[in-house]
Amino acid sequence: MKKYDVIIAGAGPAGLVTALHLLQLRPQLSGCVAAIERARHPRPKVCAGGLIPRVITTLRALGVSVQVPAVRVFAGSAVTEVGGINLEPSSDPLCTIIRRDEFDAMLLEHAQAAGLEIIDNTRVLAVRADKYKVGVETTQGSFESRVLVGADGSGSRVRTSVFGQGKHNLGRALIVELPVPDRQAEGFKDGYRFNFNCVAAGVRGYCWSFPCLISGEPHLNLGIYDQSPGGARAVMMSELLRQLHVAFPELNSSRVHGVRLRIKSFPIRWYDPSDRYTHGRVILAGDAAGVDPLMGEGISYALEHGRLAGAAIARYLDGDHTALDAYGLKLHQGMIGRKLKRLAFAARRFYGPHHRFYFRLARSSSRLQRIAVDWYNGARGLDEMSITRAALRFLLHGSL
Ligand SMILES: Cc1cc2nc3c(=O)[nH]c(=O)nc-3n(C[C@H](O)[C@H](O)[C@H](O)COP(=O)(O)OP(=O)(O)OC[C@H]3O[C@@H](n4cnc5c(N)ncnc54)[C@H](O)[C@@H]3O)c2cc1C
Repeated sequence: MKKYDVIIAGAGPAGLVTALHLLQLRPQLSGCVAAIERARHPRPKVCAGGLIPRVITTLRALGVSVQVPAVRVFAGSAVTEVGGINLEPSSDPLCTIIRRDEFDAMLLEHAQAAGLEIIDNTRVLAVRADKYKVGVETTQGSFESRVLVGADGSGSRVRTSVFGQGKHNLGRALIVELPVPDRQAEGFKDGYRFNFNCVAAGVRGYCWSFPCLISGEPHLNLGIYDQSPGGARAVMMSELLRQLHVAFPELNSSRVHGVRLRIKSFPIRWYDPSDRYTHGRVILAGDAAGVDPLMGEGISYALEHGRLAGAAIARYLDGDHTALDAYGLKLHQGMIGRKLKRLAFAARRFYGPHHRFYFRLARSSSRLQRIAVDWYNGARGLDEMSITRAALRFLLHGSL
């Protein structure tokens, strides 16, 4: 049995940033922190790859710059039942769109340089935790650690093994990648596009179109997010597909530019204020814990959870036995928890029975739209305050 101080299940953004930050804080732990990953990087990940500005700020604080091919988006639009919304082009990117295989492999490089050991092509099967240690059963044998981080995504094995928390807060998203002739093609040059018309059909979510580069070639990734939990899944999937085709009629040909289109689907776990994130020596981070219910954005939360987890584990290993419990509380009561609660509130409004009223409100003022988008994006740290305070500050001072 191999022993480590810290084992991280899953080497996605949440797990890798936990390792990176912990090893930055405690370089002497080099070689004593391992990530167990079921795949091998660079591995594909079903994701649209949109990084909001908050992600870039968090990475910068960790000494990481995004050095992978990316499309920077400066403009956006949304279709709603009550009319369209056009965001005025901004001077700073609204979003940076990367490919997750490249982005996650870049994060792994940083974490390995800091001293992370990666155990890949290995799946976590079960976890046994007691007062003194955590045992991790995998497809490559048994491991033991003082602390275990469950960063193994929305279907987290650590979560089900240790926390026994269910599937009630699993949404899902479908995605398809469409080649376009060049960067001036319609859709690609228009920035990101959202379409909320599917809310009228009972979908608690939206369709999106993001410009992206796949092997250097311009593409659009088109998808639909639905926050709704399970239910009659087959029926729901076909309805989601139908709504995606209605929003983007260009999908109606199954082959575009000679390429056969493939629809991929993956769950997204969203934040539930009643979830627990700490159980003794085991903590959860990223999708395993729960992310944005409104838009399904999860990379910024994966990184913030990772940063907090890294700091909490450092304190715990120093002898502060309250540090892991404090991490769990912070996820609910700190900045991230407050932001996620506000997004859950917005999801209930925009995807609820009175959604037309809220979309009308959103259309009523371009200033309001800019404040809301900047707050959502965490531009200039705005998400550290409530959106009402951000709006008041804008009204009082004339700028943010
Ligand atoms: C279609 C779609 C589009 C999305 N678009 C965006 C977007 O544009 N922007 C955004 O911010 N978010 C987006 N998200 C959400 C985003 O992908 C996640 O929130 C993010 O990946 C969470 O990071 P993570 O590290 O917590 O989990 P993951 O990225 O899922 O990483 C978990 C890792 O654990 C590994 N793993 C899983 N099970 C095991 C096991 N048993 N043993 C060992 N390893 C295991 C996996 O291989 C993976 O490498 C999208 C999601 C979907 C489904």
